[in-house]
Amino acid sequence: MQQDKKYCSFCGRPENEVSLLIYGENGVAICNNCVEQADEIVRDTFRKESPNPLEGKELPKPREIKAFLDQYVIGQDEAKKFLSVAVYNHYKRLIQKNGPDEVEIEKSNIIMVGPTGTGKTLLAKTIARRLHVPFTIVDATVLTEAGYVGEDIESILSRLLQVADYDVKAAERGIVFIDEIDKIARKSDNPSITRDVSGEGVQQGLLKLLEGSVVNVPPQGGRKHPEQKLIAVNTQNILFICGGAFDGIEKRIAARLNTQTIGYTAAQNNHKIDRNNLLQYITPQDLKAFGLIPEIIGRLPILTYLEPLDREALRRILTEPKNSIIKQYIKLFKMDDIELSFDKDVLDYIVDKAIEFKLGARGLRSIVEMIMMDAMFDMPSTDKKALQITREYAETRLKQANIHRLQQIG
Ligand code: ADP
Repeated sequence: MQQDKKYCSFCGRPENEVSLLIYGENGVAICNNCVEQADEIVRDTFRKESPNPLEGKELPKPREIKAFLDQYVIGQDEAKKFLSVAVYNHYKRLIQKNGPDEVEIEKSNIIMVGPTGTGKTLLAKTIARRLHVPFTIVDATVLTEAGYVGEDIESILSRLLQVADYDVKAAERGIVFIDEIDKIARKSDNPSITRDVSGEGVQQGLLKLLEGSVVNVPPQGGRKHPEQKLIAVNTQNILFICGGAFDGIEKRIAARLNTQTIGYTAAQNNHKIDRNNLLQYITPQDLKAFGLIPEIIGRLPILTYLEPLDREALRRILTEPKNSIIKQYIKLFKMDDIELSFDKDVLDYIVDKAIEFKLGARGLRSIVEMIMMDAMFDMPSTDKKALQITREYAETRLKQANIHRLQQIG
């Protein structure tokens, strides 16, 4: 056995030609290149052995999916229900065995409309935790038509491939959440007006994915490496969930409702309309009026909405979710052996401030952060074992921290 010069027992390269040699028993060694190759072989082998990632796993039923969402997201029952059913059906489509004359279950992509900061992304992220399929979130605002500055539509699939560890079969069963879909709405009602780089062109590109087609995807995303090998991904079974605030769409809904209710049924219908929450009456027609092209709307057959968050919802968001802001702070302090507690009126005060400054749920965290900053800085260096946050304490901290700085968020 050679003792002076070490070699990789697999490829035979000497120590000085590789970056790393890992030694085993009896003078056996493996170099970093061979480790990487072996890793690929292992992955490929297991991929082939388990073509369906759902096999052996119990499919979560819609009620179970919703119950899971309830632990993290307050309210939004309608959106939760729609999402739970869509995801469940998505699974069912994946396990269906298609004979020649069997009914093929078509995919039902979803669109969620709701004011910013009401939980659209949170819903998507939470559902992702419960899924057994690859999942990714993309922001529609970064997408542009091919050839323009920004990301190509295919980058959506590059990301899905990445989270699927380049297992194309798994990616083809994945779920994509496209956020801010309203930002690619057509800016003008006239479709033939000059080219609209960030609007209609992107919608056309997106349509290809939603319709189900084979798309050649650069594995790393971007266009920086023209020489890289493209991977063909079939989008037919990928579930798309879109979300957007659609600012101002209430006006269109109201206008539609007003014209509809003129007539002899007007008196009967009018009193039923809840003017504070017009989104519940949203129809595909309103999305079209907002600037989504009809083909896209047709490919997003499930339309649901999120409720604006009222005072009670904000108050619950502070403390109830499994990882609520308040629970997180209590845990942070506990790690330093400090018992942190909040007086009830502090929580009301935080909600009042979030409403007063129109910060919504997103602002709750920033407000708590401002109140807690000094304590987080000082407490770990003291030997105090308890901290009770009173309303007075919170008010003083917020005044010092200048809450007006927060007004840009939202
Ligand atoms: P958007 O609707 O704009 O996607 P997000 O889901 O990103 O809003 O919400 C922003 C933050 O506000 C979340 O990370 C979460 O902390 C909080 N939040 C918003 N809505 C809810 C809700 N319904 N339940 C619990 N937390 C919420």
